[in-house]
Amino acid sequence: MTSPASKPTDSSADQPFEHQSVEVLKGVGPSVAAKLEKLGIHRVQDLLFHLPLRYEDRTRVVPISSLKHGSQGVIEGTITRTEVRYGGRSGRSLLCDLSDGPATLLLRFFYFNASQQANLVEGVRLRCYGEARFHRHRLEMVHPEYRRLLDGQPAPVEETMTPVYAKTEGVHQTLLRSLIDQVLHRLDIEQLREYVPAETLAPYGFPGLQQAIRVLHHPPPETSLNLLQQCEHPAQQRMIFEELLAHQLSLMQLRQRVQKQRAVPLSLTAKRRKAFEQALAFELTSAQRVVIDEILNDLAKPSPMMRLLQGDVGSGKTVVAAHAALAAVSGDKQAAIMAPTEILAEQLYSNFCDWFPPESCVMLTGKDKGGIRGRKLDAIGSAEAHIVIGTHALFQQDVEFNRLALVVIDEQHRFGVHQRLALKDKGQTDACIPHQLIMTATPIPRSLAMTAYADLDYSVLDALPSGRKPVSTVVVPEQRRQEVLDRVAKACAAGEQAYWVCTLVEESEALQCQAAEATAAALQRALPNLNVGLIHGRMNQEQKNSSVERFRQGAVNLLVATTVIEVGVDVPNASLMVIENAERLGLAQLHQLRGRVGRGTRQSACVLLYSSPLSERSRQRLAILRETSNGFAIAQKDLEMRGPGEVLGTRQTGLMQMHIADIVRDEHWLTEVSAASRHLLQNHPENIRPLIRRWLGHAERYGVV
Ligand code: ADP
Ligand code: MG
Repeated sequence: MTSPASKPTDSSADQPFEHQSVEVLKGVGPSVAAKLEKLGIHRVQDLLFHLPLRYEDRTRVVPISSLKHGSQGVIEGTITRTEVRYGGRSGRSLLCDLSDGPATLLLRFFYFNASQQANLVEGVRLRCYGEARFHRHRLEMVHPEYRRLLDGQPAPVEETMTPVYAKTEGVHQTLLRSLIDQVLHRLDIEQLREYVPAETLAPYGFPGLQQAIRVLHHPPPETSLNLLQQCEHPAQQRMIFEELLAHQLSLMQLRQRVQKQRAVPLSLTAKRRKAFEQALAFELTSAQRVVIDEILNDLAKPSPMMRLLQGDVGSGKTVVAAHAALAAVSGDKQAAIMAPTEILAEQLYSNFCDWFPPESCVMLTGKDKGGIRGRKLDAIGSAEAHIVIGTHALFQQDVEFNRLALVVIDEQHRFGVHQRLALKDKGQTDACIPHQLIMTATPIPRSLAMTAYADLDYSVLDALPSGRKPVSTVVVPEQRRQEVLDRVAKACAAGEQAYWVCTLVEESEALQCQAAEATAAALQRALPNLNVGLIHGRMNQEQKNSSVERFRQGAVNLLVATTVIEVGVDVPNASLMVIENAERLGLAQLHQLRGRVGRGTRQSACVLLYSSPLSERSRQRLAILRETSNGFAIAQKDLEMRGPGEVLGTRQTGLMQMHIADIVRDEHWLTEVSAASRHLLQNHPENIRPLIRRWLGHAERYGVV
C-alpha cells in the first residue's frame, strides 16, 4: 500500500553524488551526521574537501639509527629488556629496550595494564610507530602505537602516506579515513565537477581536481613529506589557488550586490565644508584631506558607500567621520555612529557636540531606560536628532530612524560582520540603504585588508597629526618593579599622569577586575603620596565615567585599569603607561594600549613589564614594540607571528576557517587569483555559485547584503 505521500522524501537523492547528504554513505546515520556537521561536513563533497592537517609516513620501516629527535617513523625490533620503574608522574612506568640490531631505543609507557605488561616481554618482536625524542641522552618513544610481529605472518606496511585529519568528539581518524575512502571509491564512477576553467589552470601546470584530491588524501610513497608539510606540493597549491578564488569571488559578488542597491546621494558644498573646518581647533592633515575627499566622493553617488577607513591610534579618524556626518546633516538626513563601548560612545558624543549643534546630537546606550529612552527614541524617530551616537543599543528593535542615510562604525574590529549588517537594515526605507563607513585602528596590512574586506573600498590615514612624538618603550622584568614604581612616583611628582594596566592570566573578567582592585590597593600603599584611581569592566557606567573624569581633571595621578581603556580614553596629560604581563597580550593590543599616551606634546613612555623567564618568541615580540611605533609595521609582524585568525579575531571573517589556504603564507597568489576571478565572472559566471558553495559551504560566511 504505497501512496505518494508515504514515500521517503530524500530530496538529495536526485542530486549529483557530490551534493548528496553524507547520510547516503555506509556507516553514517543521523548521529554520525550530526557529529560530522561540527566539522562543517554536510554533503559528500565536504568530506573530500576536508583536507589532511598533516601526514605520517608509514610506508616503510626505517632503521632505528636513522631517527632523530622529533622525527616520526615506523621501526621494527626485538625487546631485549623490560622493566617496571616506580616513581614519576604516574606512579610507575613500563620501560622496554627495543633493538633492531645496530641500534636500540627505549619504549616508555606511563600507563599500562596487566595484559600489556605480559605481552611486552623479552624476545617479543614489535613494529612501532611514534615520535622519537632524546631524553637523558637516550632515544625513546613515549606511548608508541605498536603491534606484535609473529613469525610467518606478513605485516604489510601502508601503501600510501597516512593522512591526519582535524577531528571532533566522536569522529575519529579511522572513521574519517574510511568515509573519505568510501567517497574516493565512488568517484571512480562519478566525476567530481571542475569549476575552475582549464585555461586558468593551464599556466601553472596544476593537476586536475580529482587527481589533486586523490593525491592529498593518499599521497603515494615517493611523495616528499617535506613538500607536503610545507604545503608546497602541486596538488596543494592547486587547492590553495581554488580556495582563494572561491573566497575572492564570494566577496566580489557581495560587492556587486551592494553596488546594485540604491542610496541617497549626499553632497556637501565647499562653503559648508570650509565653515566647518575653520571652526575646528586644528588644521586637518593632508592624509585626512585625502580621505575626506574619497569619502565625500562616494557619498555623492546614488549607490551605497562601503568604505573601510584604517588609521593608527590617534591618527584622527573621528573628525573624518564628522565630515561624512556633515554631508548627511546638510542633506537633512540622519547619521548613526556606533561605538563598541560606552566610554567610547561618550567620547564621540562629546566630540560631536563640539562640532555640531548639541541639540541635534543624541546618545543612546544600554543604560538609557524608561522615559529618557522614550524621549530619545522619539527624537530619533522624528529626525529631530540628526546625529545619533550609541553602542549596541542602536540595534535594538524599537530603535527606528526617520531618514538614516549614513552609518559610521568605529573600531569595527570589536564588532562582528552581522552586527554591521543589522544596523544597515535599519535604514532600509524607500528601497535605499545607508552609506557605510567602517573605521578601525587595527592596522591590517593592505594585502590582508583587500582579501578580508574585499567587499569594501579602502582608505587609510597614513600619517599622524604633526607634533606627536613616538612613545619611547622599554621592556623590563617583573623583578625590577621597584624601579618602575620610582619612575611613576617621579613622573607624577613632576605633574605628569600615568596609567597602570593590569592584564591577567585568568580568562574571567571577574578575576581580572579583582586583580586590578588588588593592584590599585597595593600601588596606593607603595605610593602614599599619589592619588590612585581605578577603572575596570565590572564597574557601572557612572563609576567608569567618574574615574575617567577624575583622571582627566588631574585629581587622580595614577589610573589603574584593565584593558577596558584600550579604546576611547583620551587624556592628553597622561604620558606614562605601565603594562603588566605584557608578554601575554597581542602586539596589536599592546600598540592600542600604548596609544593612550603620547597624545599631548610631552615625550611619553611605555614600560612593558614581563614575568621571567621570557620565551624567545615573546622576547622578539616585545622587541618589535620597542623598536617600532608604526602600527602597520607592527601589524605585519604580528600577522607573520600569529596568523590572520588571531589577529583579526574569529568573528571577523571566514578566513580562518579556510580548508587549506593561509592568507599570509599564500599572499603571493592574490594578484593572480584576482585576475582569475575576473575571468570567471566574465566567461563562466555559471560556475561561480557552485564554486563558492564548494569552499564556503552554505554559510557564505561574509554575510548577505
Ligand atoms: P583616532 O584615529 O584614534 O580615533 P581621534 O580621532 O580620537 O583618533 O584623534 C586623536 C586626537 O587627535 C584627538 O584629540 C583629536 O582632536 C586630535 N586631532 C585629530 N586631527 C588632528 C589634526 N589634524 N591636528 C591635530 N590634532 C588632531
Ligand atoms: Mg577613535
